[in-house]
This record gives sequence, C-alpha cells and structure tokens, in this order.
Amino acid sequence: MFQDAVKFGSGEYVPVEMHKVRVVQKLNLLPIEARLDAAEKAGFNSFLLQNRDVFMDMLTDSGTNAMSDRQIASMMVADDAYAGSESFTRLSEAVEEVFNTKYFLPVHQGRAAEHILSRAFVKKGDVVPMNFHFTTTKAHVDLAGGKVVEVFSDDATEIRSDKPFKGNVDIGRLQAAIKVHGREKVSFIRMEAGTNLIGGQPFSIENMRAVRKVADEHGLIIVLDVSLVSENVYFIKVREPEFRDKSVKEIMHTLCDLADIIYFSSRKISCTRGGGITTNRHDLYMKIRDLVPLFEGFLTYGGVSVREIEAMAVGLREALDWDVIKHSPEFIRYLVDRLDAKGIPVITPAGGLGCHLDAKGFLPHLSSFDYPAGALGAALYIASGARGMERGTLSMDRDENGNDVASEVELLRLAFPRRVFTLSQVKYVEDRVEWLWKNRGLVGGLRFVEEPKVLRFFLGRLEATSDWPQKLVTQFRKDFGDSL
Ligand SMILES: *Cc1c(COP(=O)(O)O)cnc(C)c1O
Repeated sequence: MFQDAVKFGSGEYVPVEMHKVRVVQKLNLLPIEARLDAAEKAGFNSFLLQNRDVFMDMLTDSGTNAMSDRQIASMMVADDAYAGSESFTRLSEAVEEVFNTKYFLPVHQGRAAEHILSRAFVKKGDVVPMNFHFTTTKAHVDLAGGKVVEVFSDDATEIRSDKPFKGNVDIGRLQAAIKVHGREKVSFIRMEAGTNLIGGQPFSIENMRAVRKVADEHGLIIVLDVSLVSENVYFIKVREPEFRDKSVKEIMHTLCDLADIIYFSSRKISCTRGGGITTNRHDLYMKIRDLVPLFEGFLTYGGVSVREIEAMAVGLREALDWDVIKHSPEFIRYLVDRLDAKGIPVITPAGGLGCHLDAKGFLPHLSSFDYPAGALGAALYIASGARGMERGTLSMDRDENGNDVASEVELLRLAFPRRVFTLSQVKYVEDRVEWLWKNRGLVGGLRFVEEPKVLRFFLGRLEATSDWPQKLVTQFRKDFGDSL
C-alpha cells in the first residue's frame, strides 16, 4: 500500500512535505502598486518580468526544480575526463536501474534528444502519431520534413472531468492514422508520459499495452518521452487498480519495457540540466549513436557538464522514491480541489504539472481576442506577485492573412516546480486567486503594442484595454488595507 497525504485531527488530508529545507533563496513580495508598475514595465507579459519582482514563480517546472542535498554533494566528486568519465559510468548505471535499459546516450536537454531522434527516424513526408505533441517535439518533427498526427482521446481536452487517464491514445484513431498514411510513412509512435500541454495528465499502462499491440501488428517502434514520467507513475499507482500494490520501480519498468526508445529532459525528471536517450535495442542505438558527437559532444558527456551528470544519476534514482514523486501531484491536487470546491474554474482532475485556471470560465465577459488567459495572468501577478504562463490565444501566432486565431482553450498554467514551494505559499496563491474570482468583473482585456511574428508570447508587449489594472489595485487596498 502507498501512503497518501497525512490525515489531520480535523479529518482533512494535508500533503505534508517529506523533506526539510536546508538551502533557501530570498523572495520579494512587492506592494501591489510596485507589482502594477512591474507588470506595466513587462508589457503585461509574464515572460518579461524580472524574477526579483516575482514572489511565486509558477511559470514553468523546467530547470527550476530543487535539487536534494545528495545531488549537490555528488557534484563534488564529478570526474572531469573528456572521454571515459566515471561520472558517465555512474549515470549509465542509474539509467539502467531506473528505466531497465542497457544503452545510453547523454544529450544537452530534451529537445536535443528530439532533434537526434527526428534526424534518425523521420523522413520527408513521414507522419509521427502521438498521444499529444509537445512544442519542441513538433518543431523537430516538422524540421525533419515530417508531420505530427495527434491521436488523443476525447477526454484529453475536456476541462471539467473525472477521467483518470486523459493522456491516453485513442486506439481506433491510432489504427486509422496508420491505415490512412500507410505503415511505411510512420516514423515511429510517440508516447508522452505526463502529457505536458494538457496539464501533466497521465496515460495508463493498459493503454500503453494496447499501443504496443498496434505497434507490433505493424512492425513499428515506440518512442517514449519520460520527461514527466514520475508524475505519470504516481497516477498509475493511485488510479490503476492493477498497480496499487506495485513499487514505483516495478511500475516504471513495466512502462519502459513496453517502449523501444526512451528519452528525457533532465530539466524535469531529475531536477538538473541535461537529457538522454536510452534503449535495449543495439540496432536502434547504432542508428543514433554517431549523431551525438556531431551535435552534442562526446558519448560520455553529450554537452552536459560532468557535475550535472553526477546530479542526474542521483536525481534519476530519487525519481523512484515515492516520497519524492508524490510531492508535486499532491500539492497540485490540494490547490485544484480547493479552488474547484469554491466553484472557481480549473482543469480537473488535477494533473502532475500545475494548476490550470480556465480563463474562459473565469472571465466570460472577455472575447478570445481580449486574450483572457493573458489578462488573467497579468491580473493574478498584480493581485499576488505569482506569475503563471498563458496557454491560449496569445500563445497562437496569427494566420497567413494576419488574423488572430482563437484558441480552443484559454488557460493560465500555474506550474509547481518540484520541491520548491511550501504549503503556506500555496495557500497564499489560493487566497489571491479566490479574491480575484470575487472581483473578476474588474478584469479587462489586453492588446498588443509590440507583436513579434513568430512565438509572440515570449517577447510580445501588451497594454490594458482600459484602466482595469488600476481599478484592481484600488479594490485590493479597500479589501486588504496596507497588507502586501
Ligand atoms: C520540457 C519537455 C521537453 C523538452 O525538454 P527541454 O529540456 O526543455 O529541451 C520534451 N518533452 C516534454 C514532455 C517536456 O516536458
């Protein structure tokens, strides 16, 4: 049996931190007037805020996770050899222990693995069916002349749901895609654990087994992206009855044994930097091996510093520790369930990456072209000093005629970097989101004043379409007096 959150005398289950904090970074919580100032200077774009002006940095989990004492200690014994480094041997052993695979190639981060795999396997005119795309994955498949074909189930895009495995592939759609394009046009089938863009939603082992069956029928290989696998394994243990009493390692191996090639971003899974590709198949290893010295670095470092390699080895092993991997999903569930109970529109069930506020439901008086998710992000920063990431119309570029393209969903993602926040900080965010919900009528739209043509959400600058940010500040002072 697994141990979930701790039951308090009140009957409430509370996700108690299973670690103590031994290194700290000072945070600033600016007064709301200064936060409004900072938001204006950043063009109401959370990517352009200075971190010193941010209280809760919930932009992403990429490279922002907290390392353990053991990880930091391991960096001191890194072996600096260009070739044949002992650090690499230790990392390879950790990879084998965690993923049950023999051959391992280090790369500098997740997208580098995607670059190499796309180069090796995607030919012009190919298709790559997958449960859901990730931004960098799609970019590299496109670059190699291929096309991503998503075969997710209808559950994936449901906002309010109790479906346990929204990351599952729709097997009928997968079969249809292979039939329509022809087996020889399929580079590989890709499965993404802890599906990033729909909020860290998992797939089940049952689904993975069905995908394996289809792959075998057609002689196709499966590439498994395990960047967010820890949280996927957490959900398998909690939600898939067959695995309730299995260890994390047994679940991880069951999952990985169903894939042919596995790759990961260490910025996520091992709380370091770096990445890797691993397989049990010598023939596949030989197809990609020579690309690593060409694009990344020699085979025993792959563009990663040896210190990070040591910390990766420790971090990967920690990804088998239940106390480590349950932390983020439980904290996220805590926030999601409490907001949901107050009728605040959030994606349910809680995923493993963050809390996603549904900006369409939050700000129904705004149209897609007022950029509701961007406006909600700006409003939340002003109200709390927490910054999230817009995932909606603002993140879509204009079409070839220069028209704005309305996104199907308007989300504000509040990411939970692993082991970084304490529960009182999460409660603070909950409180300010609730305040914003009560005052949602005050929040207006945004419009661009500087708009890059490509990936405009990164560097674009916006302004409020009215003086709503000022009104929000006035209301805050009325309700909170001189509190920060
Ligand atoms: C972040 C991420 C990547 C890309 O990794 P980088 O290290 O940022 O290049 C690939 N896949 C998934 C699922 C991710 O979350």
